[in-house]
Amino acid sequence: MPADVKQRCGAKTRGGVPCQAPIVRGRNRCKLHGGLSTGPKTPEGKTRSMQALHAGYLQWRARNQPREADKSRPTPTRRNCE
Ligand SMILES: [Zn+2]
Repeated sequence: MPADVKQRCGAKTRGGVPCQAPIVRGRNRCKLHGGLSTGPKTPEGKTRSMQALHAGYLQWRARNQPREADKSRPTPTRRNCE
C-alpha cells in the first residue's frame, strides 16, 4: 500500500457502503465508528459486551449454517491457543 493512501474505516454505513473516513491512529475504525472507544471498563460492562458478542455469533451461526451440517461435521479443534 502506498504511504500517501490513508487507511479507511470500512464500517458499514446506513447507506450500506463502507465508511470512507480515515481510521484513528492505532485502531481499525474512524472516530465515528468506535475508533475512540476504549471499550467497557466495569465488570458489568465487560460481561454485557461479551454476551452481546456471543449473541451475535449465535445469530450469525443460525443464519449461515445448514441444518444437517451441524452433526455430520466434526468440531474443529483449536491448535494455536497455547
Ligand atoms: Zn467510519
